Amino acid sequence: MATAGPTSVPPTRHRAGPPPRGLSGWPGPGLLWSRALLLVISGGVLPVLFLWWQNTIPGSLNSAAACLTAAGRIAGLLAAYLLLVLVALMARVPWLENRVGSDVTARYHRALGEYTVVLACAHAALIVAGYAWQTGTNPVAETVDVVVDYTDVWLSAVSLGLLVLVGAVSARAVRRRLSYESWYHVHLLVYLAIGLAFSHEFAVGADFSTSLRNRVLWSGAHVVVAAALLLFRVAVPLRRSLRHGVRITRVVPEGPGVVSLHLAGRDLDRLGAEAGQFLRWRFLARGHWWQSHPYSLSAPPGPDLLRITVKDLGDSSSSLARLRPGTRVWFEGPYGAFTARRRGGNGGGNGRRVLLIAGGAGITPIRALYETLPGRGADLVLLYRGSREEDLVLLPELEAIAARRGLGLHRLVGPRGGPGPDPLRADNLRRIVPDLAQREVYLCGPAGMTQTARRELRRAGVSRHRIHTEAFAF
Ligand SMILES: Cc1cc2nc3c(=O)[nH]c(=O)nc-3n(C[C@H](O)[C@H](O)[C@H](O)COP(=O)(O)OP(=O)(O)OC[C@H]3O[C@@H](n4cnc5c(N)ncnc54)[C@H](O)[C@@H]3O)c2cc1C
Repeated sequence: MATAGPTSVPPTRHRAGPPPRGLSGWPGPGLLWSRALLLVISGGVLPVLFLWWQNTIPGSLNSAAACLTAAGRIAGLLAAYLLLVLVALMARVPWLENRVGSDVTARYHRALGEYTVVLACAHAALIVAGYAWQTGTNPVAETVDVVVDYTDVWLSAVSLGLLVLVGAVSARAVRRRLSYESWYHVHLLVYLAIGLAFSHEFAVGADFSTSLRNRVLWSGAHVVVAAALLLFRVAVPLRRSLRHGVRITRVVPEGPGVVSLHLAGRDLDRLGAEAGQFLRWRFLARGHWWQSHPYSLSAPPGPDLLRITVKDLGDSSSSLARLRPGTRVWFEGPYGAFTARRRGGNGGGNGRRVLLIAGGAGITPIRALYETLPGRGADLVLLYRGSREEDLVLLPELEAIAARRGLGLHRLVGPRGGPGPDPLRADNLRRIVPDLAQREVYLCGPAGMTQTARRELRRAGVSRHRIHTEAFAF
């Protein structure tokens, strides 16, 4: 039976207040940043098309074969451009990670990755078809000829094979069957693919072979992306890990399969971490040092102490409970846009009243936000969803925060997909939080719960721009 009632904390009444001024459906800062990023990426297509246009002799598109070859060139240029964008999106540039959000950059990366593979295949097919048509040869014989005759083209054929392989392992059906590490390591082949394709772009690409300026600009773009990658994925994390000297100080069991790791280090406030953010942690212990995993801060960051809380969902997360105090920890980050900043800017609305909804391990960033988001009384309400009472980890400290700040805290306990109505259904949400539609909503939990909550919030009249989520899977 689902219970949806206040905890031991005195119940707070959440009466419907006046709606915030302005346009309630106006996108918040997160959405604006992600749209700006999309605009920049789309804008980059124009100079790429200009390259092609500039190097196309007027009147040369006078036959079907010439048009096929031209289409092939455009597809190739766009594929090469998107490959650079894909790498740039994964360079963990702080602005992208903290404004747009890692989940959004990962989503764009995945979507653009699909276009890239299709464009690269189209490039090869159209160029070969165009040449074959022009010379009256069989396309298969033409393919063999170009690949055998030109070393650079041979290398680019290998590059295309690698891209198709990476695309195949990233298809959802295949990805689900692979471990994260296997998928990740195959994914690294993209860097090799870019390297192998690069020489044929200059050797046989009409847009570069005849123009030094184009070659310099194109190489420059590659150098900038490579530098960003080295800086933000290698140099900065290494420097920060050495400088802050983080070590595990305590490993605290919190509930069934859940532990908190207390991490101490020097000058941690200089990291600029915010409640709601995550870091990628690498524990320098046997069986752990070669992989890093993202975990959110489960308490507001302190000057010399950070805390993460981990649910055992796989090999690595379940073995964290056996780590010993004293273990050195390297890290990347802080990352993530699931912070107090997400509340602002809703069409002039003050964005002050907030509803937090958490389930499972999703309580971690929500716990940190619950303590730090400004507001008192009914300004801040937390709905904590769990299948069983014992799954509601960190509850005593949530209750203490609720009591201290007079905030709303409600447990929504009941089995998932049970016979009764879901506690996250719209009418129940409206009953507990009548001014729901005027609030900013922060939502974090398992994928199924997040999907249900989002759907029910929309049914309850919450604008999609007011629903802020953090996905625990990229
Ligand atoms: C932004 C973010 C914040 C997170 N915060 C928390 C948290 O505070 N507490 C918590 O318990 N869990 C959190 N997670 C989930 C946590 O990262 C995974 O449960 C953990 O990495 C699983 O690793 P595993 O080897 O134990 O499990 P596996 O069985 O290998 O994987 C379980 C799931 O985690 C994903 N995963 C595995 N390794 C990684 C990785 N290196 N990067 C991204 N995804 C991976 C897999 O794709 C799979 O969906 C967070 C995830 C993200 C993306």
